Amino acid sequence: MTAPFWEKSYPAGVTWAQNFQAKPIWTILDDAVARFAPNPCLDFMGKGYSYAAVSDLVDRAAKGFQQLGVGPGVHVGLFLPNTPHYVICFFAILKAGGRVVNYSPLDAERELRYKIEDSQTDIMVTLDLKALYPNIGKMLGTTRLKKVVVCRLPDVLPFPKNLLFPLAKGKEIAQVPKDDKHIRFTDLVANDGRYTPHPVKDPAEEVAILQYTGGTTGQPKGAMLTHGNITATVHMYGAWTEKNDALQLEDGKERVLMVLPMFHIYGLSAVLLRMLTIGAQFFLHPRFELKAVIEDLHKKKISIFPGVPTMYAAIVNMATLKDYDLSALKFCASGGAPLPVEVQDKFEQVTGHKMIEGWGMTETSPAGTQTIYGGKRKRGSCGLPLPGIMIEIVDVDDPLKLKGVNETGEICITGPNVMKGYWNKPEATAEAFAGGRFHTGDVGYLDEEGYVFIVDRKKDMILSGGFNVYPRNIEEAIYEHPSVEECTVIGIPDQYRGQSAKAFIKLKPDAKPFTFDELKTFLKDKLGKHEMPAAMDIRDALPKTLIGKLSKKELVEEEKQKAAS
Ligand code: ATP
Ligand code: MG
Repeated sequence: MTAPFWEKSYPAGVTWAQNFQAKPIWTILDDAVARFAPNPCLDFMGKGYSYAAVSDLVDRAAKGFQQLGVGPGVHVGLFLPNTPHYVICFFAILKAGGRVVNYSPLDAERELRYKIEDSQTDIMVTLDLKALYPNIGKMLGTTRLKKVVVCRLPDVLPFPKNLLFPLAKGKEIAQVPKDDKHIRFTDLVANDGRYTPHPVKDPAEEVAILQYTGGTTGQPKGAMLTHGNITATVHMYGAWTEKNDALQLEDGKERVLMVLPMFHIYGLSAVLLRMLTIGAQFFLHPRFELKAVIEDLHKKKISIFPGVPTMYAAIVNMATLKDYDLSALKFCASGGAPLPVEVQDKFEQVTGHKMIEGWGMTETSPAGTQTIYGGKRKRGSCGLPLPGIMIEIVDVDDPLKLKGVNETGEICITGPNVMKGYWNKPEATAEAFAGGRFHTGDVGYLDEEGYVFIVDRKKDMILSGGFNVYPRNIEEAIYEHPSVEECTVIGIPDQYRGQSAKAFIKLKPDAKPFTFDELKTFLKDKLGKHEMPAAMDIRDALPKTLIGKLSKKELVEEEKQKAAS
């Protein structure tokens, strides 16, 4: 395949490359250990681990997992927030030859039950906190789950047992039975670390991770990500930033604030795995607490801070932001959801730091597009396809019909980063890969230089009076209102137009509320008539997915119930 037309828009030095060398995922850690062994790798609430220390624990955990029967075909779940256990167990399971199934530790019982059965998870790793362990304990004997590896915070902390840990609730320790179904993390790693290496015959084909999609539009699906998918993605992000002189990332010197969950593909491959290749130090935060994050950005002189738009929106609206010194920051990246232009502008204004934006998804591990740090920026665009990714636009109603430059349609991706398929869902897989391209479910277009513009999700489109209305356009306009901190728009039933738009809004702290009429006046010159919301609801909080994306499905459900009653 020849290089696509947008190659000439790449940052200097970056070229389109298609043939990546697929490798086992753990080579990322092993290569980093070979280069940075004594350097600090993880920092968890003041306790540090060098690269060598992490590697030693990984090997011992790998042997421990093999002693539990982990090997080819065995699925091990990680039900963990960002603690060192996550990093250690992630690599250890893979080295032992098993597959990792990532769970969100906030998954409710029903979701958890579904994912355990669907993914065929036999062993789960979790923490002994009341907020986490009991959910897993319930699954023993009631699902196929057979064993639980129980981690404790004192395993990885210098503090006494009952330390105050910044998980909102459930800091308390849960009662964990002492029987052969429960294995302590400390016992798992109590060995000489001589595990039997697992030979990966074809890294491009061997599935390493089952990664569930965010569940923003429906039931989460397990994306089968291979060793090759992940290493290709890490290579793509690396190629993009390492060749960019404006960025000047330094090997062994960068300090990453890791508040994005590692159980999500963005935190896992775009941040953890990518930044391991440059020997970065990771400051782990188990959840987003604004003050704790800002304090660490300041005190730990963080240079790399990847986040999602809601995090940046909270930061720019923080009244005491100017009391903190954020001058060490080099690289802020937003992804996972649309970054409102207003939030990006304000972040750059108040901190003096440029921000880049990426678009991607679970199924693409998650590489998609990226803007250029310090380079050309087009308002509303999420950048160029990363090197090695082919983006094509097809007709929304006909997946085989290709669209031209500047024509809107469904965005499709082809590349070595694209998943093998959905686990146990042959129909969904066939639909997603119609015509051989992966259909992202996002609607957008490519301009003449290859810049990608996301219009919205296909599923979120509102059909109003015969017009296709994209909520994102309305959201962007509402974000321009000085009192608005967060906003999400959905379609509600409309007797005359079929559907119309309803806006849900969270105001900035201490902002003056406004009436619906005032909002409409504000939007009058920004939106077409067919886009004008038919209703508004101001709330103290808006529903979010577990990674912090604004979520529409709860609101859609609420409106459906209302309409039915
Ligand atoms: P599900 O597929 O289960 O409904 P999900 O799509 O939210 O959930 P993810 O794979 O975590 O699960 O999210 C990927 C999606 O997030 C993309 O398809 C896109 O809609 C949205 N997204 C990610 N980054 C951006 C961005 N920079 N701009 C706009 N949308 C984005
Ligand atoms: Mg999706």
